[in-house]
Parts: sequence; structure tokens; C-alpha cells
Amino acid sequence: MLTTLRADVSDGPALAIHGGAGARPSLLVDDEKAEYHAALAKAVRAGKVVLDAGGPALDAVCAAVLVLEDSPLFNAAHGAALNADGYAELDAAVMVGAGDAGGVAGVRAVRNPVLAARAVMEQTSHVLLVDPSLSMVEAWGLDLVPPEYFITPARVAQLEKLRAKELTGPRHGTVGAVARDASGALAAATSTGGTANQLPGRVGDSPIIGAGTWAANDTVAISCTGVGEEFMRQALAHSVHAHLKHTDATLGDAVHAAMADLGDADGRGGLIAVDARGGIHLTYNTEGMFSGWLDRGEIHTHV
Ligand code: ASP
Repeated sequence: MLTTLRADVSDGPALAIHGGAGARPSLLVDDEKAEYHAALAKAVRAGKVVLDAGGPALDAVCAAVLVLEDSPLFNAAHGAALNADGYAELDAAVMVGAGDAGGVAGVRAVRNPVLAARAVMEQTSHVLLVDPSLSMVEAWGLDLVPPEYFITPARVAQLEKLRAKELTGPRHGTVGAVARDASGALAAATSTGGTANQLPGRVGDSPIIGAGTWAANDTVAISCTGVGEEFMRQALAHSVHAHLKHTDATLGDAVHAAMADLGDADGRGGLIAVDARGGIHLTYNTEGMFSGWLDRGEIHTHV
């Protein structure tokens, strides 16, 4: 079943975030739900501060994703899912609506992978780097951390249960943000630890431009979450853009068409979208998707 949350077009800046569609709200007690709401609100607020000050959409999505990467609650950076060998390999991407994009995959020592993705976009001529060298990361002025920084007791327990085949249900999560700033520019950012117990070296959809992350100023900014293989096969984020660009589809039509194709192929997950007019859609076909958004300047969160 598809669940959709939306905010109407507003004249002001627009922002939406997600904390992964592997959410199982039915398993959370009230205190845990409150923690998620607080963390999501903090991330929306971080983006809102940038947008309210007239800052660019790129700064806003990075500010929001940084909060989620630093929180142990979400599958990105600190608290990321662990691979089958017990360590975190992180993927991230950013894209601005003017067309520039950057991504990193298999990162093992950068505290905030979203900043490394941004550095690839802004400081190299490339779009995607796999595990950028420590000297390069230092030259970019980014913080390095030891591998243990990313590992939390909850993720170790999750991996042990998966190895013992005691855990069923979603093994994914991811964080992301999309925004439209006062000038009308769009941006998207996505950051993930991938899927728990994934093979070492696996790269998901998040850092693949057009699959898990996309932005174009005339159409839409998208950040996806879910089992990334199907998002890659369908170039899912780009397919929302293509619907908007080449048909008369509304944002809702375009998002639902892409999610219907995903569901037909048994793909599981969701996406957040902000369009060129500042309309927001958040949609998922899983049990839940941690999310948040701005509606006429007010912060909303969903657990
Ligand atoms: N899409 C991510 C991946 O496959 C995981 C997620 O979003 O839950 O790596």
C-alpha cells in the first residue's frame, strides 16, 4: 500500500527530509517515537535556518542531512548499518538543480559523507568517487574518524541477529533532504550505510545520480530510500523528473507513477520530492518512513 504525505505549493522556501523507509513504527514505544520526532525536527530546523536566511537550497539540504548523519538513530554515518564483515561502508550524493552533482561510495573514514559528496561536486571534475583517499579528504578540510565511530551497539545487535537469521523485516534505512530556496533553485542530498549485512563493496542507489538522488530546477528534487537495487534498475529518481518534463503530469502523478512501477517490480521503499513550484510529496510503500517537512514555515514530522 502506498502512503503519501504532502504539503501544498507555498510561496516561501520548501524543504522535506526522510530518515529511511525501513521504519517500523508499530515496534516503537512512545519514548522512542518522541526521540525520532525530536531528531527529525532538529534536521528540518537546521535546513529552515538556512532557507529563512536566504541561503541556497544546497546548504539547506546539507545542513539537514548533517543532523541526521550525526544522530545514531538513522542509517547514515554514526549509526550506519554494518556490512557482512561488520564495518560501515557509506554512500552519499548531492545534486543541485542547475545540473552539478557529486557522490561518494564505500567511504570508511569521513565523519560526514554528505560533505565528501559535496566536495566531489565542488572540488573535482568528477561525479562519483569510491572511498576517496585520506589525503584528499584532508585537503577538502573534512573531519576524519576511525571506523569505530560509525558503529553503534544497536547496529552490532542487528547484524548478529541477521547472521543468526533471527531477524526478518526491513534491513534498510537512509537519510535525505530536498529543498527549494527563495531564488527557486532546487537541491537534493542523500546519505546511507546501505543495507545491513550487505556484501562488502556493495553500492546502493543513494550515490547514483538519477537512481537515489536527483535535482533539476525546471522539474523536481528527489531523494529516495529503500532496497536500492530496484531503484537503480528503474533510475527511479530520474523517472519522476522524466514524467514531469515530458508529460503534463503533476508532481503527485509523477511520484505515483514511479512508485507504482517500483511496486510492480516488488521494490520496497519511498521517496521525498519538492517541485519547481515548492510543492512537496513524501511517499512510501513500506510500513513507515521517518520524515519531516516545512509547510508555510511550520515544521512537521512523521514517525
Ligand atoms: N537505498 C539504500 C541502499 O540501498 C538503503 C535505504 O535507503 O534504505 O543502499
